Amino acid sequence: MRILIVEDDPMLGEGLQTGLRQAGFQPEWVKDGEAAWQILRHEPFSAVVLDLGLPKMDGLEVLKRLRAEGQKLPVLVLTARDTADDVISGLDSGADDYMIKPCDLGELAARLRALVRRAAGAAAPIMQIGMLSLDPASREVRYDGREVELSPREFDLLHELMLNAGKVLTRAQLESKIYPWGEEVESNALEVHVHHLRRKTSSDIIKTVRGVGYLIPR
Ligand code: CA
Repeated sequence: MRILIVEDDPMLGEGLQTGLRQAGFQPEWVKDGEAAWQILRHEPFSAVVLDLGLPKMDGLEVLKRLRAEGQKLPVLVLTARDTADDVISGLDSGADDYMIKPCDLGELAARLRALVRRAAGAAAPIMQIGMLSLDPASREVRYDGREVELSPREFDLLHELMLNAGKVLTRAQLESKIYPWGEEVESNALEVHVHHLRRKTSSDIIKTVRGVGYLIPR
């Protein structure tokens, strides 16, 4: 799951990137508001961790522009601005959550998981479709009661399809969600992951929609 970190403090940005990667996310990191605005207009992310005090464009301005454009992606503001007025103006500008620095990385990861599942219209922390269940926190997958061992990419692919159950996702959409930006992707990599997922669960779990992409029926 791709997360954009917007943070100008190098130590903190580095720490966030490492921590979120260890929590199973695919973080990308930009260091100013202008860069954040540009990348968010052109690249899909599952959520954003947004600092407010940023060079070139304030975080609140980035947030207001995103919402003015109609972008719905979850935004968690992570900032040193800690007065009630700051929190209120952050939430009222379109933030979905607000954390004060310094923050606990485990808590940040849990809040991001909650924001992403809410944005997908789900409330239960463990996703369940038929005999398949997936726990985004422990990254545990079960099929018909037995645990299924997946590679990180296979897990991300399955998670993305389950978050969008009932919808066809194109190859391009899936690739942009599960591979880091700019990474070379082998042309058949997605098919190989789908093949492995079917083999490890059941052959009819993921439907191929010819010439379009894949879906997991709801
Ligand atoms: Ca800052």
